[in-house]
Amino acid sequence: LTERLNKAFKNISGQGKLTEKNMDDMLREVRLALLEADVNYKIVKDFLVNVKDKAVGQEVYTSLNPSQMVVKIVHDELVALLGEKEAPLNFKESGMTVVMMVGLQGTGKTTSVGKITSLLKRKYNKHPMLIAADVIRPAAIEQLQTLGKEVGAEVFSLGIETPAVETVRQGLARAKESGADIVLIDTAGRLHIDDELMEELAQIKEIAKPDDILLTVDAMTGQDIINVAQAFHEKLNVTGLVVTKLDGDSRGGGVLSVRSITQVPVKFIGLGEKMEDLDVFYPDRMADRILGMGDIMTLVEQAQEKMDLEQSEKSARKMMEGTFTLDDMLQQVEQVQKLGSLGGIMKMIPGLNQFASQMDDEKTTRQMNRSKAIIRSMTKEERQDPGILRASRKKRIAAGSGTTVQEVNALVNQFEKTRQMMKQMAQLQKGGKMNMNAL
Ligand code: GDP
Ligand code: MG
Repeated sequence: LTERLNKAFKNISGQGKLTEKNMDDMLREVRLALLEADVNYKIVKDFLVNVKDKAVGQEVYTSLNPSQMVVKIVHDELVALLGEKEAPLNFKESGMTVVMMVGLQGTGKTTSVGKITSLLKRKYNKHPMLIAADVIRPAAIEQLQTLGKEVGAEVFSLGIETPAVETVRQGLARAKESGADIVLIDTAGRLHIDDELMEELAQIKEIAKPDDILLTVDAMTGQDIINVAQAFHEKLNVTGLVVTKLDGDSRGGGVLSVRSITQVPVKFIGLGEKMEDLDVFYPDRMADRILGMGDIMTLVEQAQEKMDLEQSEKSARKMMEGTFTLDDMLQQVEQVQKLGSLGGIMKMIPGLNQFASQMDDEKTTRQMNRSKAIIRSMTKEERQDPGILRASRKKRIAAGSGTTVQEVNALVNQFEKTRQMMKQMAQLQKGGKMNMNAL
């Protein structure tokens, strides 16, 4: 998939301009990437409409590096959708903060409670207490007790005979007594959404008045994730997401779906089964992951640099061999133009920057465009050997490129001079191995 995307990007970077057509190719790949990452199709659709709007709008300003531009727009748009910044817990200013963990069975509630507790102790110097309010699975209480021992926090439980709501009521009282500054409530899950569970959770919420209700979402879940998130959010108004199992090979497109449905931030991500395998959420990393590439930006930049380098090495070699043609010259003009405005380039070069303002970019660009037009109006033979150009051919070329015969002559002269110079340099260098980079 990464390869397909790269190819689509490359197709664009070979062309000079962003058009509806070549952008469609690329956006089709982006669309596939998102769908394969399990992003909901409706969200994908809206997303692409957005991206296209933005890309077409920007085309006017920078037609110089279209592929990078589109990549950047896709990436930035994803980041924006995922929520731009790290989101901490809603700590109470004073008094005891209450965090309630909800989610389907097996999504990682209990594990996440342990991980967050560990983080609160290590990074925030907090004194957490845990309440075992999953009284459905007998092993759940024991699991939380084991984790509590491991991370060094008291676990409150009344066993499976006591209703969860009652456990929470007494647990909160006990926490206040013990001087805990934050309480985490581990709740029961089900394999599917069911009313009984939702009712129980709503009652716990009523009693505990949590500062944060965190919904655990298993990154491995497919399209179904969206319905689950919707149901939880409608009933409980969750305030944050914990995306678990991102250490697996899932691309995590579900995160994007859930995020756009609930509009609540991802507060933590789970990266393994151990207590330290928890991290805050970095939207840009997630965007890369969903698109299925390591670091999409550097990738494209590198690919492009490499292409440019190969291109100029090739024409340098040709110059030295005396086989430099007008086609090579055309490519060189295009290379230079791809770099941006000459004034802009000069500004970046120490020693030359003071002249940058004197550069008449418009004039240079006009000249370059005329040179390109002239060469493009030539036949293949003429480009290989401008020696065959007679008056009638020159007239045809001038007409075809919207220039004059004088301008055609000037270009051919310039080309011959360059070629002569190259030949002389080649003679000087003969014998020794050339260092292309020195050119
Ligand atoms: P709960 O039913 O929602 O409480 O889920 P648990 O916390 O019991 O977790 C279910 C399983 O998922 C356990 O085997 C956990 O070790 C595992 N698990 C939880 N979070 C992660 C994670 O971030 N990565 C991986 N690889 N496994 C996880
Ligand atoms: Mg559990």
